[in-house]
Amino acid sequence: MSETEWSNLSTEERRFPPPPELAAQANVTEETYRVAAQDPEAFWAEQAKRLSWGTPPTETLDWTNPPFAKWFADGTLNAAYNCLDRHVEAGHGDRVAFHFEGEPGDTRAVTYAELTREVCRAANALTTLGVQAGDRVAIYLPMVPEAVVAMLACARLGAVHVVVFGGFSADALSTRILDCDVRVVITADGGYRRGSASALKPAVDTALEKCPDVRTVLVVRRTGQETAMTEGRDLWWHEALAAEADEHTPQMFPAEHPLYVMYTSGSTGKPKGILHTTGGYLVGTSWTHWASFDLKPETDVFWTAADIGWVTGHSYLVYGPLVNGATSVMYEGTPDTPHKGRWWEIVQKYGVTILYCAPTAIRTFMKWGEQIPAEYDLSSLRILGSVGEPINPEAYVWYRTHIGGDRTPVVDTWWQTETGMHMIAPMPGVTAGKPGAAMRPVPGVSIDVVDDEARPVADGHAGLLVITKPWPSMLRTLWGDDQRFVDTYWSRFEGLYFAGDGAKKDADGDLWLLGRVDDVMNVSGHRMSTTEIESSLVSHPKVAEAAVVGAKDETTGQAIVAFVILRGEAAEQAGEDVVAELREHVARDIGKIARPRQIMVVPELPKTRSGKIMRRLLRDIAEDRELGDVTTLTDSSVMDLIKDKLPSAP
Ligand code: ATP
Ligand code: MG
Repeated sequence: MSETEWSNLSTEERRFPPPPELAAQANVTEETYRVAAQDPEAFWAEQAKRLSWGTPPTETLDWTNPPFAKWFADGTLNAAYNCLDRHVEAGHGDRVAFHFEGEPGDTRAVTYAELTREVCRAANALTTLGVQAGDRVAIYLPMVPEAVVAMLACARLGAVHVVVFGGFSADALSTRILDCDVRVVITADGGYRRGSASALKPAVDTALEKCPDVRTVLVVRRTGQETAMTEGRDLWWHEALAAEADEHTPQMFPAEHPLYVMYTSGSTGKPKGILHTTGGYLVGTSWTHWASFDLKPETDVFWTAADIGWVTGHSYLVYGPLVNGATSVMYEGTPDTPHKGRWWEIVQKYGVTILYCAPTAIRTFMKWGEQIPAEYDLSSLRILGSVGEPINPEAYVWYRTHIGGDRTPVVDTWWQTETGMHMIAPMPGVTAGKPGAAMRPVPGVSIDVVDDEARPVADGHAGLLVITKPWPSMLRTLWGDDQRFVDTYWSRFEGLYFAGDGAKKDADGDLWLLGRVDDVMNVSGHRMSTTEIESSLVSHPKVAEAAVVGAKDETTGQAIVAFVILRGEAAEQAGEDVVAELREHVARDIGKIARPRQIMVVPELPKTRSGKIMRRLLRDIAEDRELGDVTTLTDSSVMDLIKDKLPSAP
C-alpha cells in the first residue's frame, strides 16, 4: 500500500484579489518573485543590506557541509544594535516600539530610546552577574515588556536566550534548563491571567530543585505579590538594573553566533530544542515581516497576538518588528478578560492596522458571535494574518468579513519553529487569496510537494511538503544533538528538508496545507487529510471546533473519528441526531469515504500553548491507550473532561 494516493476532496471557488490601493503601493510585486526566483542567493544577499553590519558579509551561503548551513558567515553584527540603537541614531528614538496593555488595564508606551536604555542596563546587570557570550539564559516571564528587554539584553551580550512559556509547569521549565545547561534564570513574581494575579516564582523554585547549577535568578516585580527569595541566588530585577548605567557598547559577533534556542510546541511528541543563529535569522524575519504584512514602519500599528514563549513571539513580536523599526502592540492577557470584546477594544484604542493571530482564536471569536466585534471601530485594520494551523475556509471568510470589514487581505502564513520565518504565504499586494490556502512560497524560498519517492507531484495532487533549498533563517541544528537534527529533517529524502506536513498543489499550483503527516489517515487505501474533514465539520453551522483522527479499524485499516465542540444552542441539545446530521454533512460535502465512523461531542479539545490541537492525544483516546506526553498542553484537566463525556470505547 505504499503507493497510496491522497484523496483530494475539497473544492473552494471563492477568490479575494488585493484591494487596488494596497496593490498600488505594495512592498512586494510580481517583479519581486521574478528577481528572487532567478537567483535566490543574490536575492538574500540583497536583503542582508536591511541590517547594519559591523563587517558586511562578502559570502552569502556556505552549503559545503549539508545539512549544516552557514549564512553570511564572514559578516559580523549585533542583534540588539539592529533592533534598537540604530533606530535611535537615525532619529527615531521617540517612536513607540511597544504599546503595552496589561490585563488589569495598566498601560505603558515604550519608545525605541527607552527600550535601548533599558536593554543597556539589563546587559550591564547580566555582565555584573557573570553572563558571557555563549552562555544560556532562561527567560520565564509573563507577556510584559521586561520579556523583550531580557531577550535583547542576552542578544546584546551574545548570550543565548531560552524562553520558556510562562504558563508551563515547573517540570517543563527544569527539562529545558537542564537540556541547555542554563545557569541564570529571569522570571517574575507573577502575572495577570483571567482577572487575577497568578504566581510564577514558586514554579521556578520547584524547577530549580532539580537544577543545582543555576546560580542566579532575577525576579521582575509585576504583581507585587509575596515572593520567597532565596538568599545568595535570587535578586530583584529592578534593583539589579538600578545599579547599572544605561549605556553599553555593543560587541559585534559573527553572523553564525547562536541567538536563541526555542522548543517546538510538542504537537507530535517530545519538544525539540531548535537553534537559531544571528545574521540569517534577522535577515529572514525582518524581510518576511516587511513583505508578508506589507509593513509601512512609519504608519502601521502591528499586533502579533501571540505569546513570546513560542516562535511567533520571537520572530514577529520581537525580532522582525524591531529590526524594521515598527510600532507594535503587546497584550498580557486573555481575549475574554474582563469581557469578550477585549481584543477589539485594543484594536480600536491603538488603531491597529495589522493583526496577526491563530485560527484557534478566530474560531473562538466565531463561537462568541459577530455581534461582539461589531461593537467596535475596526476600520484601522488593513491586513489580517493567521498562523499555527491550517485556517479553515469558514474561519478565513469570517475573519475577513467580521474583523476585516470585507476589505482586508487574509495572509495565512505557513512556517515552523524550525524555519524561523514565513515560508508559504500570499503577498497581500499581489495574491488573489483563496480561503484555506497558504498559496505560494514567499519570494526567495523554494518549496515542493513530493510523493514517497521524492518525485514532485503534478498540479491537482497531494503529497509531502519539502523545502528544496536552504533559507537564511533555517534552524542550524537541534541543541546538542546534530544526529537527531539530521535524522528528523534530512534523512527522509536526500538533500531535501522534510517538514512533516502534507500539502496539495491545486490546479493553479497553489499550496494547501493538509495537516501533519503523522496525523494523516489511511482509510481503505485512501490517504485522508485531517484538515479537509475538520474544515467540512466547521462549515456546519452547529460546529464551533473539530478535530479528526484515524483510529485502527479491522475492516478499513483506519477509521475516521471526529471530536467536535458544538456552538451555543446546539451544545445544549446535543444528541444522537446531531451526530447523524454531521456524519451526513461530511459525506455530502466531501464524499462517503470521508464520513466519520464516530463523532464524539466534547466540551473542549486538547491544545498546545500556542493553540494547536494535539491530535495524538485524541488518537490515544480513540484507540483506548495510555496518554502520551502532555507537558505542553494548555490545560491537562481537559483530557479528563473529554474522557468523562465519552461513551466507553467501542
Ligand atoms: P512538534 O514539532 O514538537 O510536534 P509543532 O510542530 O506543533 O511541534 P511549531 O513549530 O510551533 O511546533 O509548529 C509548526 C507546525 O504548525 C507546522 O509544521 C504545521 O504543522 C503547523 N502550521 C503552522 N502554521 C501553519 C499554517 N499557516 N497552515 C498550516 N499549518 C501550519
Ligand atoms: Mg513540528
